[in-house]
Amino acid sequence: SIYIYGFGDGKADGDASKKDLLGGKGANLAEMAKLGLPVPAGFTISTECCTDYFKSGKQLPQSLYAEIDTAMAKIERSMKMKFGDPDNPLLVSCRSGARSSMPGMMETVLNVGLCSTTIPGLIKNTGNEWFVYDAYRRLIMMYSDVVMEKAEGIEPRDGMGIRIHLEIIMNELKNDLNYETDTDISALEMKTLCERFKRKIKETLGSEFPDNPRDQLMGSIGAVFKSWNGKRALSYRRIEHIPDDWGTAVNVQSMVFGNMGDKSATGVAFSRDPATGDNNFYGEWLPNAQGEDVVAGIRTPNPLNNTTKSSHNRHLPSLEEAMPGIYQELAQIRTTLEHHYSDMQDIEFTIQQGTLYMLQCRVGKRTGTAALNMAMDMFDEGIIDEITMVTRLNPKQLDEMLHPVVDPEAEKKTTPLAEGLPAGPGGAIGQIVFTSEDAVRWARTGKKVLLVRDETNPEDIEGMRAAVGILTARGGMTSHAALVARGWGKCCIVGAAAFKINPEQRKLVIGSKVFNEGDVLTLNGTRGLVYEGELMMKKATENSRFKAFMNVADRYRRLKVRTNADTPEDAARALEFGAEGIGLFRTEHMFYGADSARPLFLLRKMILSKSIDERRRALDELFPFVKQEIQATLAVMDEKPVTLRLLDPPLHEFVPQSLENQEELSRELCIDIDEIKKRSLDLTESNPMMGHRGVRLGITYPEISAMQIRAIFEASAELIIQGKNPLPEIMVPVTCNEKELLFVKNISEKVYQETLEKYKITAIPHQFGTMIEIPRAALKADRMAEHAEFFSFGTNDLTQMTFGFSRDDIGSFMNDYIDNAILDADPFETLDQDAVGRLIEISVALGQKTRPDIKLGICGEHGGDPASVEFCHRAGLTYVSCSPYRVPIARLAAAQAAI
Ligand code: ADP
Ligand code: MG
Ligand code: MG
Repeated sequence: SIYIYGFGDGKADGDASKKDLLGGKGANLAEMAKLGLPVPAGFTISTECCTDYFKSGKQLPQSLYAEIDTAMAKIERSMKMKFGDPDNPLLVSCRSGARSSMPGMMETVLNVGLCSTTIPGLIKNTGNEWFVYDAYRRLIMMYSDVVMEKAEGIEPRDGMGIRIHLEIIMNELKNDLNYETDTDISALEMKTLCERFKRKIKETLGSEFPDNPRDQLMGSIGAVFKSWNGKRALSYRRIEHIPDDWGTAVNVQSMVFGNMGDKSATGVAFSRDPATGDNNFYGEWLPNAQGEDVVAGIRTPNPLNNTTKSSHNRHLPSLEEAMPGIYQELAQIRTTLEHHYSDMQDIEFTIQQGTLYMLQCRVGKRTGTAALNMAMDMFDEGIIDEITMVTRLNPKQLDEMLHPVVDPEAEKKTTPLAEGLPAGPGGAIGQIVFTSEDAVRWARTGKKVLLVRDETNPEDIEGMRAAVGILTARGGMTSHAALVARGWGKCCIVGAAAFKINPEQRKLVIGSKVFNEGDVLTLNGTRGLVYEGELMMKKATENSRFKAFMNVADRYRRLKVRTNADTPEDAARALEFGAEGIGLFRTEHMFYGADSARPLFLLRKMILSKSIDERRRALDELFPFVKQEIQATLAVMDEKPVTLRLLDPPLHEFVPQSLENQEELSRELCIDIDEIKKRSLDLTESNPMMGHRGVRLGITYPEISAMQIRAIFEASAELIIQGKNPLPEIMVPVTCNEKELLFVKNISEKVYQETLEKYKITAIPHQFGTMIEIPRAALKADRMAEHAEFFSFGTNDLTQMTFGFSRDDIGSFMNDYIDNAILDADPFETLDQDAVGRLIEISVALGQKTRPDIKLGICGEHGGDPASVEFCHRAGLTYVSCSPYRVPIARLAAAQAAI
């Protein structure tokens, strides 16, 4: 056969290695059958068949029909029942299952094969009329929804889905008769319910519910294939980056029944606790029910065992109590599977009149904390080796361990108000305020506030600092707010497009809801979700094993990990997280923030100066501030390299806007306010990001570069005299030509000699280098390396200039690029290896040609993105640099890249 792979009776055509062809579910059913576990017999129609089905315009391949006949005959022999047989009817399920699990995104139909000719036989054989009609009404509900409405595209006449129509009928019946659960409904009532269902289907969808097992089977198979391109599945694939051409498999499997009475049941379990990682068998089950009841949450499920009972299910009997023998058997299977797969398993099982059947197993999803605990436990238990342990944790999961988080249980029960980009990790609860000043004022009185803005700019920085969380309607993952928030490890959601913000009225409108200043919201910055009111939070307790785990990981990596930090506090935090240096210290940082009033004023005075004398005086006044700031951070980072970037942002950003600021300057400079206004206007640029910034400032005003370089050398000299070992690296930003570098280097060398003389010392160990953030610089890297001892790839700007995408404006179109599969991912979040990466590779090769020992780093936001770190490892960089909270992520990603 070419499309079909059978399983059952301890044998199988496939196995767990064939996930591509059989899907995860099919491959693991085959594997479990081979392990001798009790798997109901069935067969898998391969994902290839799905691909062929779509290629041929949604036609099942002709050869499939005969293959299905042969495969069905085999199951019939194994089960000693016949599909469609009036005396001894076999029922089957048709289950979807893709290569990588897409939980709940595609369709499954149970109890296929029930119809007017098979119902009496099944009643006779089981002696249980209630069960047969319960199974039948489930088939009708699933089939009409999945096959008739969704797959065959029959539009419900009144716009409401058929599933809802039928649920209403069933709920009305239960209400009228005062029944609490489905099991209260009598057999006869169940039977009439089925008749009413079928009439409703005819009425709403305009066609008959099929009364023929074969039609039901073929309809279900087609519907499962079609569900691959259903709306939910499509959007899930976009988010998870799953290719559209993988296709799903269909698993046709003989039914076993958990709804045959009190000795029957169904359940789901995890071989270890997926939330904590504790080595406890954890799960839920329901007596007298079919599989989907547990996941759909229609009844509170019972706990699996006594150790894992919790407050909401303590009153219900555990499986351990109710069916001790079966529980022991299941516990044995848990151990078998966990050892076989060497990982935590998520399993589905059903008990039919005292007999246990296994219906699914797969590697279970887990929280970051659980992943860490399980990996270390399994290593200790000898289930996995050390390399596997290090690879078991997705680096991004480390985030959770460093920040307080919204309790996932609480989130499950709540619908989010809105969704944005998950820009800063962790959770936050606070009262909303609409201006930076309010945030600061409210925070001073001890209130927890969320700063809500359309977008943020440098002037909001204090409000952002004061707020526990930040929420913006615009901006992308590398927008200012996002960058800053991540640096601080602050919860932040940007680009929540559904928000209409009115700062004047202090109102936030989302759809029909209006929120006023002081109203409480909860943010999940790790997932980008906004909730109304206050959700429970979970303390991100410092996991004692975290450090031990990271130490093991560190032994495997070659890349060094530095941090982007501009203050002694951030530097100290980064050191705690394991940073080995600073890859980016932005000197302009001192002009933003709480203590910036004086330096900012002096900077403004300097940029509004007309004559060189005016400017020199302003620079002289500014100098001690700059030196002091640099020295404080160099002191904290003693013995570790610190890359200090010369002034980078366009002067435009510092031009005084408010009248108050302008008046102050006019007094200080003794010029009239109109002149100040005129000079401000002169500095305004129409495209500041490509305007007068970076090295260009140093070309126009060499005295600015000289002042900064002097501050770096003098700060270092003084530390050396105190017996410390500062390792400054001077970095020139926004260069595109080696002569720019030479220009600044000449200044640097002159200032260096002057500093040595002034302090009477013989040397200050340092390096001189450049950012590579303009494509031209990358392509001329051999020339740049003549003057640069190191390159640091500024991949935020390099991405912006390579794509021509303004990084502050991508919010308005990036989603459309992702939705239409034009881009797989936002290139500002994860490095575009095709082109931006290519430019890096070119620079590395050219740079090393000129200077074989050139030091190579990356200081863009990508330095904390695992896929980008992996690229940097391959490209042969020396180090990556990222915000302090991402240092552990980069360390782990670097270790995994080297494995
Ligand atoms: P999903 O991928 O959404 O979990 P499944 O194909 O696993 O969908 O099926 C949904 C539910 O139906 C599960 O709880 C499963 O255990 C149950 N189920 C599927 N096939 C059978 C079967 N042959 N006998 C009994 N229960 C089944
Ligand atoms: Mg399942
Ligand atoms: Mg830059």
